[in-house]
Amino acid sequence: MNKITQVINLLKKEFPGLKPVPSKSDPLDVLIATMLSQNTTDKTSYIAFENLKVNFKNWDDVMNAPITKIKDSIRVCGLTNQKSASIQMMLLQMKKKYKRLSLEFLRGKSDPEIYDELLQYNGVGYKTISCMLAFSLGRDVFPVDTHVHRVSNRLGLAAASIPDKTFAQLKDSIPKGKKFLLHTLLIRFGRKICRSKNPLCGKCVLYALCEFKDKELYAGSNNAEPKENNFIILEHI
Ligand code: SF4
Repeated sequence: MNKITQVINLLKKEFPGLKPVPSKSDPLDVLIATMLSQNTTDKTSYIAFENLKVNFKNWDDVMNAPITKIKDSIRVCGLTNQKSASIQMMLLQMKKKYKRLSLEFLRGKSDPEIYDELLQYNGVGYKTISCMLAFSLGRDVFPVDTHVHRVSNRLGLAAASIPDKTFAQLKDSIPKGKKFLLHTLLIRFGRKICRSKNPLCGKCVLYALCEFKDKELYAGSNNAEPKENNFIILEHI
């Protein structure tokens, strides 16, 4: 059994009730929600997304709005200048190219075609597109966020300096049908056990498989109260 399959099997036992349930939400909604979620918590990015939905009639309205109104709506989630500019510019470019602000046409395209299509927009990278593919189109993909990147590299599944490189190294090695499941398991595991600071190596079911050079230093860490975010934003869009 290869290491990825061992990790999946052990984490499924660790989190027995965890089932990945991608929604079938509007792809443009999910894309923008994911852009808002960069470098912040699920809670604040969800508030920012809800603010946009309340303060604007539709995405055309956001496209035509004064940028200050967009900034005010999303201020809670940080990187306000960058996120508001990226979202408005993307909407302008999409309107020009597709004539309407809808990404429903992507449902008929393959994953590689969708990556190619959306990577042209500033602020939209592999993780953002992968989240949209999973949470809106129900595709079996492997979004790599900061938790997935950290845990994958500590375990030795990847050897990469940034999440996009971890994605490139792992996306074709994960068994078919298990990519989104592994993503969900690693996020939960990264938040509860293999935390960025003070990982709980002493209670880790993956200890024997792990290649993290400092794991022995943390082998006594097993009883700190784990901090968990309130929810995973994209399951609620
Ligand atoms: S042993 Fe420690 S570093 Fe390795 S996966 Fe477990 S918690 Fe993470």
